[in-house]
Amino acid sequence: MSVHEAAEALPAAVGSSEAWLERYRASVMGTYGAPQRVLVRGEGCWVWDADGRRYLDLLAGIATNALGHAHPLLVAAVTAQLTTLGHVSNFFATAPQIALAEQLLTIARAPGGSRVFFCNSGAEANEAAFKMARRTGRPKVVAAVDGFHGRTMGALALTHKPQYRAPFEPLPGGVEHVPFGDVGALGRAVDGATAAVVLEPLQGEGGVRPAPPGYLEAARRITREQGALLVLDEVQSGIGRTGAWFAHQLPANGDVVPDVVTTAKGLGGGIPIGAAIAYGEHNAALLGAGQHGTTFGGNPVASAAALATLHAIERDDVLANVREVGARLREGILALGHPLVAGVRGQGLLLGVELTAEIGPAAAAAALEHGFILNAVRPDTLRLAPPLVLTAAQADSFVAALPGVLDAATATGTPA
Ligand code: PLP
Repeated sequence: MSVHEAAEALPAAVGSSEAWLERYRASVMGTYGAPQRVLVRGEGCWVWDADGRRYLDLLAGIATNALGHAHPLLVAAVTAQLTTLGHVSNFFATAPQIALAEQLLTIARAPGGSRVFFCNSGAEANEAAFKMARRTGRPKVVAAVDGFHGRTMGALALTHKPQYRAPFEPLPGGVEHVPFGDVGALGRAVDGATAAVVLEPLQGEGGVRPAPPGYLEAARRITREQGALLVLDEVQSGIGRTGAWFAHQLPANGDVVPDVVTTAKGLGGGIPIGAAIAYGEHNAALLGAGQHGTTFGGNPVASAAALATLHAIERDDVLANVREVGARLREGILALGHPLVAGVRGQGLLLGVELTAEIGPAAAAAALEHGFILNAVRPDTLRLAPPLVLTAAQADSFVAALPGVLDAATATGTPA
């Protein structure tokens, strides 16, 4: 059977965006607000909508499509695995799952005795980390103001944003939030009853805010002194996004050795997979037999997708591309000297364009009209998280278009 015959099972990608969106509104739960377009195909850093319009994808499925769209290696690896063995459950092991665990331990620079728990999303990876924290027997967890760790109940307890939390209380207890980057506040919050400190090395949803230099090293020192775990949420910042395999390995973060790293998003290059990496034998033993699990964890197709993603990143020196194109994008935007641009935050290809006015949502809408996908992660911040394979020419095309986008936003936009 050819790939084209799959059309029998798939909806024909025809019809206008508006017709599809009407069906969406009548059938999909309204948790996300109105989608802006219906996308029908992608190639590299480009996507096309149902009306035939092309966009440069500078968001990559929210920092997820590491290799862009329809990457031949990812397609081949997923297809090859699915034609061989698609799912087995955790009553059985598969070669892709094992090879992926080994490779994750290598890129995480995890010491002997370290182990990986596989799941399907970032929130689930953080649920696993939360359960590891509980298994220390200590009641408290310290997380950061503006930190985002997912929407399931445990991950939500770690997440700071009051609007996300309030409708679902009571959440799992014992979590205290301290100002991100404030070493003194962290030192005061962490004591002998603290099980874990959970931090993003670079806050993504919180506005693309890197930890100040030295902060993670201080967090490591404080947690070590108090016998607490240091859990780093690299769901958004991991898998090459910042130009290192993991953001905590960047020189600015002191290459600290954490106790647990969680990751997801870019790991599968767009296929759902998450992982919690426990550093060292002691941490790996926190979740023993029967203490955690999920049907799809380590699914061979998802593992094959992740292996292909990691392989392509390594083979094509994508980390260097992230550093180079990320720096070019940042410098290009700053060099515009545009009065609405206050600065550019972030690392590698996770950048936040800080605006002098709260026109972010209008600017994101204007960008879409100009053929660029990005999002306003805050009213005054545009997030750029493109595929890690973004080219210099593609970055330049966005820089050239940005003044027009911002002018259109100020002309049409109402501040959020
Ligand atoms: N942690 C961080 C740092 C994230 O950015 C996200 C998602 O944006 C999550 C956790 C949740 O991941 P998921 O949406 O895959 O559950």
